Amino acid sequence: MTGFIPVNTPLLDGNEAEYLAECVRTGWISSEGPFIKRFEQEMARVAGRRHGVAVTNGSVALDIAVHALGLEPGDEVIIPTFTIISCAAAVVRAGLVPVGVDCDSATWNMTVEGVEAALTPRTRAIMLVHIYGLPVDLEPILALARKHNLEVIEDAAEMHGQTYRGAPCGSFGAVSTFSFYPNKHVTTGEGGMILTDDDALADRLQSVRNLCFQPQQRFIHEELGWNARMTNLQAALGVAQIEQLPRTVELKRRLGRLYDEHLEGVAGIRRPVARTNYADNIYWVYAIVLDDDVPFDGTEAMRRLGEKGIGTRPFFWCMHEQPVLRRMGFMLDESHPVAERIARRGFYLPSGLALTEDEIARSANALKEILA
Ligand SMILES: *Cc1c(COP(=O)(O)O)cnc(C)c1O
Repeated sequence: MTGFIPVNTPLLDGNEAEYLAECVRTGWISSEGPFIKRFEQEMARVAGRRHGVAVTNGSVALDIAVHALGLEPGDEVIIPTFTIISCAAAVVRAGLVPVGVDCDSATWNMTVEGVEAALTPRTRAIMLVHIYGLPVDLEPILALARKHNLEVIEDAAEMHGQTYRGAPCGSFGAVSTFSFYPNKHVTTGEGGMILTDDDALADRLQSVRNLCFQPQQRFIHEELGWNARMTNLQAALGVAQIEQLPRTVELKRRLGRLYDEHLEGVAGIRRPVARTNYADNIYWVYAIVLDDDVPFDGTEAMRRLGEKGIGTRPFFWCMHEQPVLRRMGFMLDESHPVAERIARRGFYLPSGLALTEDEIARSANALKEILA
């Protein structure tokens, strides 16, 4: 046995260094600079959208996207309870009320049944969040949103290169958002993007990202925005990363296949669903949920794997169980048994792009050993 296998290792072996050097050579290092536009256009192209607005990270992308929809204080936004805090935080910071829905026990994604049960006369929007590698089954939820005239925000942070029934993830709803954190399929170190087809909304997103400076009277403000501008340095990485996206998707699917081969038939675990009738898994991460008859939980499994030199991460913790949201009075009477269970029994194995076949084998074997 050799060294520790980290949970993520990015791959930066394309034109990243060359494009970054170009920024330094030309002096274009701020949010002005040619790579920003190129990156925005490339992201929009991949998702089949009209506009891209680059920002500092995926959480801020959600903040600005929700803010820009201009909902009224107290309006309810349906979110999956099994997601990252950024989703609930964006809703709460916009003065809106998050309402959680449970997830499917096989795909870990929110379901139309959950959304239907969460609808109230105050519901104004649905935040769709695709989890871990498979998209949400979108069609029935989008139909419901149309029927009730609800805004749709699509968080596609984990879905670069994924499709839903052949249409790119990130192409759904009024706005979609992406993250470029190093464990995402396209990384800029830190970074995010908002996509939309709506020209007026794109103008508004650009303004809010840039402190709501006004074109004519720069320092007179009608509204409060953020400084959420991405740098040309980050966008340079992003352009190089998008060039690699087809290979990235291939590598991720290979990672899923290899883990599946090693773990086929192993008792005590649920592995990711490889395909549904609307998408093939893209394995943002290779995730595991322990069966109820395994006498320890996810935390203990991760501790034992750590002792064997295997890096892991826990599953998301449910939004309706977040101390900070409960203290603020949100999601208090909710209970979502599927999400509560997987949050306690789930974790993911090393899933980075730079993993070798040998490292995947070692990680899978370590999991088998702790289950034996
Ligand atoms: C990573 C992620 C985010 C947040 O992105 P950051 O760039 O880390 O702020 C938001 N939503 C989902 C689903 C994510 O996986």
